[in-house]
Amino acid sequence: MAQSTKYIFITGGVTSSLGKGIIAASLGKLLQSRGFSVTIQKFDPYLNIDPGTLNPYEHGECYVTEDGAETDLDLGHYERFLNVQTSQSNNVTTGRIYNNVITKERKGEFLGKTVQVIPHITDEIKSNFYKLGEDGKFDVVITEIGGCVGDIESLPFIEAVRQARWDLGPGNFLVIHLTLIPYLKAAKELKTKPTQHSVKQLLEAGIQPDILVCRTEHHLPQEVKKKLALFCNVQLNSVIEAMDADSIYDVPLLMKKEKLDERVLAKLKLSSKTNTDLENWKDFLGRLKNPTQEVTIGLIGKYVSLPDSYKSIIESFTHAGAAVECNVNLKLISSEELNVDNVETKLKELDGILVAPGFGERGFEGKIETVKYARTNNIPFFGICLGMQVAVIEYARNVLGLSGANSTEMDPNTSHPVIGLMEEQKNIEQMGGTMRLGSYACELKKGSKSYLAYGKSKINERHRHRYEFNNAYLEQIENAGMIATGKNPETGLVEIMEIKNHPWFVGVQFHPEYKSTVLNPQPLFVKFIQAAIDYKLK
Ligand code: GLN
Repeated sequence: MAQSTKYIFITGGVTSSLGKGIIAASLGKLLQSRGFSVTIQKFDPYLNIDPGTLNPYEHGECYVTEDGAETDLDLGHYERFLNVQTSQSNNVTTGRIYNNVITKERKGEFLGKTVQVIPHITDEIKSNFYKLGEDGKFDVVITEIGGCVGDIESLPFIEAVRQARWDLGPGNFLVIHLTLIPYLKAAKELKTKPTQHSVKQLLEAGIQPDILVCRTEHHLPQEVKKKLALFCNVQLNSVIEAMDADSIYDVPLLMKKEKLDERVLAKLKLSSKTNTDLENWKDFLGRLKNPTQEVTIGLIGKYVSLPDSYKSIIESFTHAGAAVECNVNLKLISSEELNVDNVETKLKELDGILVAPGFGERGFEGKIETVKYARTNNIPFFGICLGMQVAVIEYARNVLGLSGANSTEMDPNTSHPVIGLMEEQKNIEQMGGTMRLGSYACELKKGSKSYLAYGKSKINERHRHRYEFNNAYLEQIENAGMIATGKNPETGLVEIMEIKNHPWFVGVQFHPEYKSTVLNPQPLFVKFIQAAIDYKLK
């Protein structure tokens, strides 16, 4: 195969949750700063076609791309670090691979052949590995292999990586193995054995890692590095220390200091096209770490015991907070614990309230009480997706006096369905991949809070929902002071609701959090934080 795109594969060993996604994104950032166009993709070993049908407790947030793919949350990190959009092709699961192969089998494409894991599944994996590199748009494609080496379920991926070395040829292929060097307190020692074993497992599968990135709580002494190099067959300068960092956004600079990018370029026989010193990244870190103010914001949702369920929202606060040099002390509060009697005591320290996206009835009434508290006490309020729908329902019940108003998601027989199933959703029976997903246009009303935030009237944001505001109630609700300030220009679907006589009350049907990046903080988050600062000063 004639080859210009370089492929880097990142595997993980010893344990999961070592932060392969952050290492991949950081390396991507460093290569980008040297003038290369980079994309990152993730291959996940589970059988779901995509994570869209997973409960957030299983897998954290489901991230949505511009083209409407429901993906692993690591794609969020890739976009936030690289400032480059990803797509359906950037996240592939074992389920999708099998689905593709079985669909081909039914079409008769393998006619006469026995369809097997090797070569048919591995061929399908490899063709997906190479897809993003095919049109020459990217100099480097980084592929993160989910899970740990040695897991039964990731074996076909590992085998496909082994074969890729031969397809791509020397100089075009690189394996980075991310591993853990545990510290034994009692022995006061950093231990290399788990890494030796996980590299051994890779070697058994026919893969020699080129670079080891070693997660550690303590600096790796030279002897430890030497030992790792000797027993894992890597060059001494390819044993890279990855110390625990204060912020994930420190990792690119830490990896630069450790020369991860230099090692990668040397092994791929590349020389930098340019060499920027990541000035705007450092500028962001400077503002992040030296805030001049602080606000406390409550994130009210039902998946709060696993913060990864709200990954993109949490990161959006980091980006927007840095933009205004404000430390956002984010409190995750379970809506199930909130009721009419305790809402004031539980929320009284907050300078701003965000009601999170979500599905189903659990914790719903707690969200209604939360909105009422924010609305009647002039506390800055930001509702996202379900959060916006709750705001409409609360207004309908308590301002319009439509008692029992609800979303048909929560109460199919409600007397006032102010939120209802979208027309195009009514005949859908399958759950997976069938919501209104991805980017749609929205036209903003001049002079609204949202217009002031974006500074323009035509915007695009990403979506993930089945229900919408019922336009039959639009006139009534607008007459009562809740205004649809953002609408889809083609369908009239209400995208944003604001309360006129409130310092900052904005509910959005879309998910602004998916498009926030380090270099482009999301404007609604920025304005929400500013409103919280104003509220606190008052
Ligand atoms: N459950 C609501 C809907 O489907 C909101 C979805 C969300 O918050 N992402 O419309």
